[in-house]
Amino acid sequence: MHKDIATPARTRAILDKYGFSFKKSLGQNFLIDTNILRRIVDHADLTEESGAIEIGPGIGALTEQLARRSKKVVAFEIDQRLLPILEETLSPYPNTAIINEDVLKADVKEAIDREFSGIDDIMVVANLPYYVTTPIIMKLLEDKLPIRGIVCMLQKEVADRISARPGTKDYGSLSIAVQYYTEAETAMIVPKTVFIPQPNVDSAVIKLIKRQEPAVEVKSEPFFFQVTKSSFAQRRKTLLNNLTSQLPEGKQKKEQIISALEKAEIDPGRRGETLSIDEFARLSDALFPYFS
Ligand code: SAM
Repeated sequence: MHKDIATPARTRAILDKYGFSFKKSLGQNFLIDTNILRRIVDHADLTEESGAIEIGPGIGALTEQLARRSKKVVAFEIDQRLLPILEETLSPYPNTAIINEDVLKADVKEAIDREFSGIDDIMVVANLPYYVTTPIIMKLLEDKLPIRGIVCMLQKEVADRISARPGTKDYGSLSIAVQYYTEAETAMIVPKTVFIPQPNVDSAVIKLIKRQEPAVEVKSEPFFFQVTKSSFAQRRKTLLNNLTSQLPEGKQKKEQIISALEKAEIDPGRRGETLSIDEFARLSDALFPYFS
């Protein structure tokens, strides 16, 4: 087996050889602990038949571990300076492909169709760039890709919000958006010392396994998400006040919201953070006829 990329000594040697300087604006914090990398990959439950999509391979630390444990890895990397480095570090792994694109602009579905023909089990596994964690996760879920799920490193604070339950301070529209599509859990907490350079915030790995069907059935998905966002606009306000100030203008808006809350059997004095996803679905369906 080839020497691991992710030891502190080898990582430094690679960076020095290419004179690579980290770009903070691209969220470049590379992992230098093979043990952590292997544990991340463990959480993805890959087999030799699986495909892995990585976002931001950096110098290939995680890519290498994925290549050893799956059939094929396709990695999106925005930073062109990393391409010659990856060409060298990943040369022992012919089952890897790098796509030099911003993942937020990329057609991931098309890349899956092109790169993973004959592969049924596909997981996204990544140490995400922290400046765009939420947009990346939401894009991967909203694009309805044929993936089993996502295992990724991100800021612990965002992991807490994603896996939060109703009634807790971290519960909000992000928890609902992600839990609508997936079963979410925080898989591990990761110390800053395993990165170079060390990030300013604590990190965690989350595991999101896609549901067969969304957690709740709603008349309109965009409206459901609009209602959840509106309900958390100001956390200290009641549902009635948030919805009244956030939903689009209309005659008798307040009366309509009160009547929808009544129909959904939800007390208008409650706050958004106390509602379960089922209750939000009921509320959104009751409001929908007035605002569609
Ligand atoms: N996977 C490597 C590791 O664990 O050591 C690097 C992870 S580093 C946290 C994030 C990586 O994402 C960097 O290589 C960065 O250049 C890349 N990146 C940042 N923004 C990106 C984007 N919008 N699309 C694709 N890659 C991006």
